[in-house]
Amino acid sequence: MKFNKNLENIKTYEAGKPIELVVREYGIEPKDIVKLASNENPYGTSPKVIEAVSAIVSKMALYPDDSMIKLKKALSARFDVKDENIIIGSGSDQVIEFLIHAKAHTGSKILMNSITFAMYEIYAKHVGAEVIRTSSQEHNLDEFYELYKKEKPEIIFICTPNNPTGDALDADKIYDFLGKIDSDTLVVIDAAYLEYAIAKDVKKKIDAKALIEQFDNVIYLGTFSKAYGLGGMRVGYGLADSKIIKELYKLRPPFNITTLSLEAASVALGDEEFVKKSVTLNFEQMKRYEEFAKEQKIDIINSYTNFVTLCLNSSQNSTKISTQLLQKGMIVRDLSSYNMNAIRVTIGTDEQNSRFFKLVTQFL
Ligand SMILES: *Cc1c(COP(=O)(O)O)cnc(C)c1O
Repeated sequence: MKFNKNLENIKTYEAGKPIELVVREYGIEPKDIVKLASNENPYGTSPKVIEAVSAIVSKMALYPDDSMIKLKKALSARFDVKDENIIIGSGSDQVIEFLIHAKAHTGSKILMNSITFAMYEIYAKHVGAEVIRTSSQEHNLDEFYELYKKEKPEIIFICTPNNPTGDALDADKIYDFLGKIDSDTLVVIDAAYLEYAIAKDVKKKIDAKALIEQFDNVIYLGTFSKAYGLGGMRVGYGLADSKIIKELYKLRPPFNITTLSLEAASVALGDEEFVKKSVTLNFEQMKRYEEFAKEQKIDIINSYTNFVTLCLNSSQNSTKISTQLLQKGMIVRDLSSYNMNAIRVTIGTDEQNSRFFKLVTQFL
């Protein structure tokens, strides 16, 4: 059977290995498995969210509220924007899918960092768009601008903090860059980890309202999967000028967010204490990784988020080490598919991190 030609060159996205798979493949008990591979919140979910969701589980028979009024209200209060500036997706992943389908087509160019979130490229290929990448590992906005002038891309992706490297851009540099981009080029600011970055350095803070008021060609993406502890509920959002949101709505399937997910995200937004505590603990634990890297004489990228990237020495092999870790029930992310001899480790709880240090020391 012949399929859409655009799919030929797509490698299926390699999600962090689920615990269930490690149980089956290696016969390890679930309680002995530590998953530090997908940047989920190791402190779980706000108890307020769990209580609220438990209270409505019996509502499963009916379709969800497709106007998403409760979550939209909570988001518009949080960001001080209007309903018409918001789209909600099944993860911000789905919003990325919508915006690429809305703006790009066969032959379009999409500009992104040399190393960045893998889903941008996958959705770009769906529509037959060409991916243009910068050369430097960190976002270099001068290089972005040079490529923008040369290639005239339809869409530009900026991921801050960047996944899988953890570095982040100063907001004023992003604003300067946006000021030089014509209004027909869609610029995506993927802020999946911004709740972490702003706690470490206020210069990384992007004001979504000011951003979308000043630039009608920019969309700001956020997610509940990371700091909010709702990775299993699949909720993300995009904030932009209403003209952009209106187009994205044409691509949205009805009822794309479940009743339980809508409730979870709405309540999560109201429990800032939970997020704050998670973020504080994250940076406390990050210090241990920095010390560990120093002791082991391996490079660590200065991280503004909830994971660290350990760049191994040439005598060490990231694929081999992550496989050895996996056999012991420790799931981390090998970055060899990004052409890096590095592993990305989600910063876990105190106990999970101790376990990681102990195990990885045997293999380094
Ligand atoms: C996790 C992540 C997302 C989106 O995750 P969803 O779970 O789909 O909301 C988007 N961008 C980056 C860079 C991420 O790491």
